[in-house]
Formats: sequence, C-alpha cells, structure tokens
Amino acid sequence: MEILSPSDANLRRAGACLAAGGIVGLPTETVYGLGADAFNTRAVARVFEAKARPSFDPLIVHIASLDQVETVAQGGGRVARTLMERLWPGPLTLILPRRPEVPDLVTSGLPTVAVRLPAHPLARAIIAYSGTAVAAPSANPFGYLSPTRAEHVARLLGDKVDLIVDGGPCGVGVESTVLDVTVDPPVVLRPGGMAVEAIEELIGRVRLGGTGSAPPVPVSPGQLDSHYAPRTPLFLFREGELAERRVEAVARGRGAGRAAALLFDEAARRRLGAAAAGFAEIRVLSPSGDTVEAAAELFARLHELDALGLDSIWAERAPDRSLGRAINDRLHKASVK
Ligand code: AMP
Ligand code: MG
Repeated sequence: MEILSPSDANLRRAGACLAAGGIVGLPTETVYGLGADAFNTRAVARVFEAKARPSFDPLIVHIASLDQVETVAQGGGRVARTLMERLWPGPLTLILPRRPEVPDLVTSGLPTVAVRLPAHPLARAIIAYSGTAVAAPSANPFGYLSPTRAEHVARLLGDKVDLIVDGGPCGVGVESTVLDVTVDPPVVLRPGGMAVEAIEELIGRVRLGGTGSAPPVPVSPGQLDSHYAPRTPLFLFREGELAERRVEAVARGRGAGRAAALLFDEAARRRLGAAAAGFAEIRVLSPSGDTVEAAAELFARLHELDALGLDSIWAERAPDRSLGRAINDRLHKASVK
C-alpha cells in the first residue's frame, strides 16, 4: 500500500490503478471511499474482502459527471432529474433503476443501483481518469467507524488496498444521504450529509425510512441497527440527560473506569456542570452548535477517543435538525443497545 499526495500525476496513477482492477482509498467530501471499477467483479470482490463486508450489502456507484449516470442507471423520472440537477455534485445518493450491465455483486442482485456524483474534486478527477464508474463503500472494516482522514484508511485497511490518495480531512464527514426515488413519495433510507430539509424544499415531502427501524433483511445496510461502531462501548443519552445519568451511575458504583463524554456543543458542556469531573476526556463536536461542523468532526473524534483505550464513551444526542439527524443516526448505530 502506498499513500499518494494529490498531484495530477498521482490522480492519473490512481485512475489507472482502478482501470487495471486495483482498489484505491480515495477522498470524497463525505468519508474516504474504497473504490473499484464497478464493472469489474473481481475488483469489486476485493473490496468486499478488504472490508469483510457481508455480500448482502450493495455498494454506491460513484460517477465523475452528470451524463455518466446513464452508464449505470436508466429512467429515473422528473424527481430524480430535479435532484441530480440541483443537488449534485454533493452528499446525496439516489437509488435508481439499474442498467443490466451493472454486476449483481454491486447491487446485491437488486433491480436498482445507488448512484452518487461526489462534490470532491479529487474524487471526480480520479473517477474521470479511471474511465469507468467506481463502486465505493466507506474505506473501513464493515461495521466500524467510517474514515475521514487518509491515515484512518491506512490504519484500518493497510496492505489490503493498493493505493490511498491523501486529500486531507473530509469536509462533510458523514456518509451521503441515501434517497430511494423509485418509489412515490421518495424514501430516505439513510440520513446523511445532505439535509432532508434541502431535499424537501425541491421535491416536497419525503418519507423517513432508515433510522432505528431495521427490517429483518435489511433493504439498505444503513438500516442495520448496529453499524459505524467504535470498539469502546458507546452509550447514547437524550439531550440534557448526560450529567444526571453520569452522577447516578457513579453513585450506584456503575460507570466506573475511565469514561469520555462526547458532546454536541458548548451549551451541552455547560450543562455537564460538576459531572464533568467524572470524565477522563471530553470532546465537543461544535462549540457554536453548528450541525455541519459537528458532522465533519464526528468520526474523527470517535476514532480519537476509541484509540485511547477508555472503558466507555458517553455521548449526548444532537438536536434533530439538519445534519443533526445524520449525527444522531450514526451515534444510535454506534451505541450499545
Ligand atoms: P456505504 O457504502 O457504507 O456508504 O453504504 C451504502 C449505502 O447505500 C448502504 O446503506 C447501502 O445499503 C445503500 N444502498 C446501496 N445500493 C442500494 C440499493 N440498490 N437499494 C437500497 N440501498 C442501497
Ligand atoms: Mg460504510
């Protein structure tokens, strides 16, 4: 495995590696992806193997330009068109009717395909240089925290990947919003980096299908109840409840050991009051309470806390607005139920 700086020569090299059946860790605005040529089943199989990802889990196909969508999907309709034209490139994945050429391994045999045009210029350049569409899940072992830095990818996957392009920290920091536009009204299968409010402003009401309602056979692994999890047990509390619960636990002799608090904003830190002394580490996602900044910080702070070898992480929910929904969805999935 080699980590490359994002020079034009290296972006070409990463594209050529994909075209030759290699697997590449690449930066996107959401999280780092582990990419393979979507039409090369051997390369895609290597991605599953590197992630130890169950094969029921379909991958998102990434494209470099709007017109490339036709190489993997067909139809789509007016709503899909509107979203592509207004919100692409960006952290929005659309579920569309697939083209038959897309391998079953990519779609898990579904009649649909998940497609995204990323906003990150390096991701688009690499895909364009590859000359193909790139199937890419997040570049982490299945179920573990998503990577938002090149070093996360190197640490988590190491020699299982051929190349990693270092594009610095991911700007959005949580995965894309996944929206199924093959049904009416469209359904949000996973809240993510594109605020649902921005989608509804363009196409009207959508249904929220993902969060916390895992069907027995997941339609979308974003719907699995446990996912995106650190190794350190993470406990999730409602807004404003962390201080009281910590004091209670310590009084009852539970919650012993070294714990970290993961808080949304400075107001949450103030609410902790004297209970702050009960935590070995405290992290605040966005001092000013900006959901966009908090989302960008989420996985980096979780990686950092997980590496400290603490006994538990105590997290408090973000407000349920804008990207706060994606943050709460990831925290819920990361938590001990
Ligand atoms: P990840 O690759 O980790 O970002 O996760 C991709 C998300 O998109 C998962 O929740 C997938 O299940 C979902 N997805 C991909 N393809 C489809 C599809 N055809 N139908 C429904 N969900 C999909
Ligand atoms: Mg993932």
